[in-house]
Amino acid sequence: MIDKKPFEIARETLKLLTARKLAPTPLNYQRLYAEVAGQPMEPAFPADRLRDIAVALPAKTPGQQKQRGLLESAINQLNWDGVKNALMAYGGFSPPAPEPGKAASTALFDSGKVAAPVLEPTEPAVLTAPALTADFFTQIARMIEYALPALGADDERFLEQTQTMIKALRQPTADAVAVKQMLVNYSHRLSFAAEDQAEVKNVLLKLLHLIIENISHLSLDDNWLKGQVDALMDVCAPPLTLRRLDDVEQRLKDVIFKQTEAKARSVQAQEEMRQMLATFIERLATMSQSTGSFHDILETSARLIEQAKTIADIAPVLKDVVGATRSMAHDSQSVRDELQDMKKKADETEIELTKLHQELDRVSALARHDPLTGALNRQGLDEALGREISKVRRQNTPLCAALLDIDNFKRINDTLGHATGDVALKHLASVAREVMRPQDVLARFGGEEFVILLPDTPLEKGIEAMTRLQRELTKRFFLAGTEQVLITFSAGVAQLVNGETGMDAIKRADQAMYLAKRAGKNRVLGA
Ligand code: GH3
Ligand code: MG
Ligand code: MG
Repeated sequence: MIDKKPFEIARETLKLLTARKLAPTPLNYQRLYAEVAGQPMEPAFPADRLRDIAVALPAKTPGQQKQRGLLESAINQLNWDGVKNALMAYGGFSPPAPEPGKAASTALFDSGKVAAPVLEPTEPAVLTAPALTADFFTQIARMIEYALPALGADDERFLEQTQTMIKALRQPTADAVAVKQMLVNYSHRLSFAAEDQAEVKNVLLKLLHLIIENISHLSLDDNWLKGQVDALMDVCAPPLTLRRLDDVEQRLKDVIFKQTEAKARSVQAQEEMRQMLATFIERLATMSQSTGSFHDILETSARLIEQAKTIADIAPVLKDVVGATRSMAHDSQSVRDELQDMKKKADETEIELTKLHQELDRVSALARHDPLTGALNRQGLDEALGREISKVRRQNTPLCAALLDIDNFKRINDTLGHATGDVALKHLASVAREVMRPQDVLARFGGEEFVILLPDTPLEKGIEAMTRLQRELTKRFFLAGTEQVLITFSAGVAQLVNGETGMDAIKRADQAMYLAKRAGKNRVLGA
């Protein structure tokens, strides 16, 4: 009976269907086909259900995306081994060594290529999938456990359902049909939980935008703050990564620090000015020889001062009042003295305000980010160097410092304009952030010069990393209007040596960069 040809089995199956008066459903056909072929009938491959699970799996990292892609191809090929291997790889486990005759599903992992289809309509022997193993179920349970933290912990019903699902999957004698039904229900629920989490993230992001916008409205008229707020808006656009969030946190701290400082000082100065003016007007108002128009000015001024919200609102009122008072109080020595006193106080307040501005500038200098590119500024670089060097001493790991300088940058400015030059700087910083590792530090060292610190990196690896960035940059142009602009850079890389300061290493990198320029630009040299 094993020798029967597929078309003979098919014919006999059809006869048997008629003889037994069975409805010609795919399931009946499959069952009889297995019977005629003398092979065991196994449960059909639950492709739709598995597809539901695949869709619900997060695919944020390139690794997850790849494994999910492999899982989907394995499902499309009804390939249980492929499904198992993809799930294991998704969960961070290496797929098992290939068993003889099972090379196809292993190849799926080795090369990322799609294995030959397992289902052939003329080969009914492989129509059925291998039995579901306890190991397979355990793997699904583990996968659900790994995905759980990403799905939030606020929905108790969902958590309960998850625990029940995991428990059922871990039963050594799990019933495949019952588990399948549970998986169907569970994956449905899972898709809602995943959507909820995505929505929560979106709403949080919107709130963050609102807060930042609000900060910018509260701010004094200050260019530095405006630059920081714009940069913050850029940084907190999707896709959000931990690295970006960290950046947002650092910048918000800078902004809030400066904001609070500025606000408190300015409110205080404003209050002093308000009090001073109120006393001043009160005194003047008691003067019996006041003229009608002077009274009017005083009344208007008093109202304006009450309504004043900023020092800028008060300043013109003060000027009006002082002017009007001067002209009408020339005959009153006591008022003149008083005015002089007031003027002195006003001068003092002005000095105080000047000091406040200087103080604000000093605080600005404390901020660690360059508002144009979002890279660290010199202050930020100093702090980062301090941190990295103490790590080098503690852990005895190599540290590289690279210095890069954009080639022919002046020409970009001259031919395409300064604004395009600025876009080029931002472009370089953003490509660098994407290409370098999260622990690498990017700082703007000067006009079109950047320093990159590469922790835990020996010299050759540092040169490799910079060459990679260089190649990546030559692949990505940016647009100035309709024109495609490509930028290149020359760089030097130095590995920190014993007894050397961070700035010494940067100096050596700078010399190597200079040699790279001399050698024809668009290249990376080690120091
Ligand atoms: P090389 O290839 O030798 O490095 O030549 P280069 O033209 O890049 O170097 P050069 O030092 O002659 O010119 C650097 C220019 O960078 C000059 C300066 O105006 C410009 N620059 C500095 N900071 C900024 C900035 O923030 N924005 C813009 N758009 N240009 C800047
Ligand atoms: Mg330069
Ligand atoms: Mg240059």
